[in-house]
Order: sequence, then structure tokens, then C-alpha cells
Amino acid sequence: MSQMDCDLAENEAYVDIRAFFDQIAILREPYMRALRSILAPPAISQDLAAIKLENGFPIFDRRELKAHPALLKAYFLDLLTMVEAQKPHEARAIRYRVTQEGCFEELLAQALGQAPGMAAQPEIMRFLLQETIHPLLEIQAAGVHNLPELKRWTWGYCPFCGDAPLLGLLDAETRAKHLVCGACATRWPFSRHRCWDCGTTGNIAYFTVQGDQRFRVETCAACKSYLKVMDQGYGALDKPAMQVHLTTLHLDMLAQDKGFARRAG
Ligand SMILES: [Zn+2]
Ligand SMILES: [Zn+2]
Repeated sequence: MSQMDCDLAENEAYVDIRAFFDQIAILREPYMRALRSILAPPAISQDLAAIKLENGFPIFDRRELKAHPALLKAYFLDLLTMVEAQKPHEARAIRYRVTQEGCFEELLAQALGQAPGMAAQPEIMRFLLQETIHPLLEIQAAGVHNLPELKRWTWGYCPFCGDAPLLGLLDAETRAKHLVCGACATRWPFSRHRCWDCGTTGNIAYFTVQGDQRFRVETCAACKSYLKVMDQGYGALDKPAMQVHLTTLHLDMLAQDKGFARRAG
């Protein structure tokens, strides 16, 4: 392991988060398999997708996602059991809530934007619901990832689901940049000189931390937004973007100290 790997990958502050995501990965595999066996690819005609993409509309509306409450609830409760070890009081309160008749279905509707109220939910609840729903979105997005129109998308939000990017990626060889959606894992090409948030060019700068070149924080002087960008010259992204995000939170803190903000999806 290189010195750089030691600096961040072995950073003690993130030991629990890495262990947590290792456990999630074990649960996620059979969950994804079960979802793939019941989810039909999104019913979007190529013509309609082309029109939407050309006009800046994401091709999928998560409000139309067909939830499978029993399967999703079982996975949600497995995740909750893992959280219980770290946050017993919050986890028990959530477990009590979701045993109430119809409560989980209502929470799912909120998480899918079919009902209001998600913003008022506790952070752990939002995280658990996102982790439950994102695999569905990821599978649906994979069903259309070969659409050639996706390559021509020039907007800063996800062409599939409309979420904000969670990370940027620099190609190891071409140095081209892609943005990564934290919800459906779609990657799309994006200019290195334009701000993903306000769309202006010429206002992007970046900083790195403690000599770690694997991550740079891109900042926009025009809209004061920032984005963490992973340089894959030091290793390809082989983990969920959320895991990388949660194990580089010191970069967010520094960016925020400098007066920049990140718009959530
Ligand atoms: Zn997306
Ligand atoms: Zn900007």
C-alpha cells in the first residue's frame, strides 16, 4: 500500500464507516439479485428518451418507480439492524415506527417523491430509505445506460434520475471528467472547465489536502458550490459513490470552511 493509500484509506476516522459499508455490500448482493428478478426495464421509448435528453429532462421519474414494499422492507430492516449497533436509541425508535400499519409504505412514498415530508425525517431514516431505494434506481438506470443520447447530455444533473452528482471522476489516461450520480450510479461526461451547478465556465479552481492527489475539491467562484473529484490515475472507483463520499468528509468540511456549499440531489 502506498503512502497515499495510508493517509486516507486507512484513516482511523473512517474505520466504522468502511466496516459498515462492507456489511452493506454483503446484504446488497442478494437484494440486487432479487430486485433484478422482479424489475422490468423502464418503459421508455428510445424516441421519447431522445426528446427528453435533448431538452434537458432526465429520462426517468422516480415517482413512477414501482416499489415492492415487502422486499424493500426486509432489506430496510436488515440495514436497521446494522445501524442498531452504533445508534441503538434512534434505531429502536425507527423500528417501532415502521412496525405501525402502513408506515413503511408511507415512508417509501416520501422517499420516491410521491408524498411530501421526506425533508423532515431524521437523517438516519433518510439514509436508510435512500440505501433501500438506490439499488432499484441503479438497476433501472443500467437498463438504459447504452442509449447513445446519454453521451450528449451536457447538464450537471443526472440524465437518468435528475439527482445532483455526488462525485466527479477523472479518467486515468484521457483526463476526461465524468460526473457520478449518488442515487442511480449513472456516469456522464462533463466539461472540466464548467461548473456542474451554475453552468458557467472559467470559474473553476481546485484544492487538494495533505498532498493527497487522489481527491481534489473543485470550487466555483461564481456560485460558491464545490464537488469532490476522484483522480482515477491513483485507482479506479470500485466502491459505491456514497461510500467514497462518506469516507472523505474531511474534504467537505474544508470546502465548507472556505465558504463553499454542496447542493444535495
Ligand atoms: Zn441518477
Ligand atoms: Zn458554479
